[in-house]
Amino acid sequence: MKLFTIFGDPVKHSRSPLMHNFVFKTLHIDACYTRTHLIDGSTLRDVFFEKGLSGANVTVPHKEAAYAACDEVRGIARAIGAVNTLVLEEGKLIGYNTDADGFYAAIQSFGQLSTALILGAGGTARALSIVLRHHEITPMILNRSSSRLHYFEENGFATATWDTFVPMDYDIIINTTSAGLSDDAFPLPLPLLSSVLSKAKGAVDVIYGKKTPFLEEVSRHVLPYKDGSDMLLEQGVLANHLFLHQSIPLTLIHPLMQQSFSF
Ligand code: NDP
Repeated sequence: MKLFTIFGDPVKHSRSPLMHNFVFKTLHIDACYTRTHLIDGSTLRDVFFEKGLSGANVTVPHKEAAYAACDEVRGIARAIGAVNTLVLEEGKLIGYNTDADGFYAAIQSFGQLSTALILGAGGTARALSIVLRHHEITPMILNRSSSRLHYFEENGFATATWDTFVPMDYDIIINTTSAGLSDDAFPLPLPLLSSVLSKAKGAVDVIYGKKTPFLEEVSRHVLPYKDGSDMLLEQGVLANHLFLHQSIPLTLIHPLMQQSFSF
């Protein structure tokens, strides 16, 4: 039996085991996907091999550690510097980032977009900014504090903190902060948030499973929006495809994983 897991801290809330196990079970694939609570990211590689894993997903806060643990990093993960999917290939640990392409797939329903405002400057904001630029959507990165903005400045993105931000028009507003995850905070002071939402075409919160204060405010502006469920689904579909060495078509994995969301 092939073994897969998700590494994270915390990890008990993760829906990934349900999503992947449903695909394995339905397609009669001899595989099992578990959760691994990992506190020290520097041990990730050793734990991966000790458990005899064939692949893994990685969530907060270990995506940069996972990048460092790889023998080879492929695709957009190289530019992002963070890995959320690990696959064992001929004894080597290969790293990918399916968050980026998963997010891009999830925003297709908004139609043509040219500009985006990304709230937050953590690992998710990095993945999103790189994939948006790759698809010719220009992102601006807005964060509460300045220290995490250096990566974006070094990579040629426009950035601002709450203090230096001058609101302009953006097609889509994306919350990648953890504001609203376990509190009632807005990701941006309300007057600034209201100002950018009043000119936007839509909004996305990468947090899933709840309507955050950000999305409540988006609703008040009567804008189309999504929470992070579609991104979660799309990144999972891409990861499953990689776990199975691309032997099962994405068009088969997608509806199965989507079905698992109704459980
Ligand atoms: P990080 O810890 O790397 O970054 C968090 C960011 O949030 C920082 O920029 C931080 O700002 C900002 N922040 C935190 N609290 C507040 C607040 N109260 N007000 C304003 N800004 C705040 O996190 P990640 O980028 O890894 O993850 C962010 C979120 O994305 C998580 O909720 C995670 O669950 C979700 N996610 C969802 C996915 C999906 O599939 N739907 C996939 C990946 C992530 P500062 O620098 O000032 O501290």
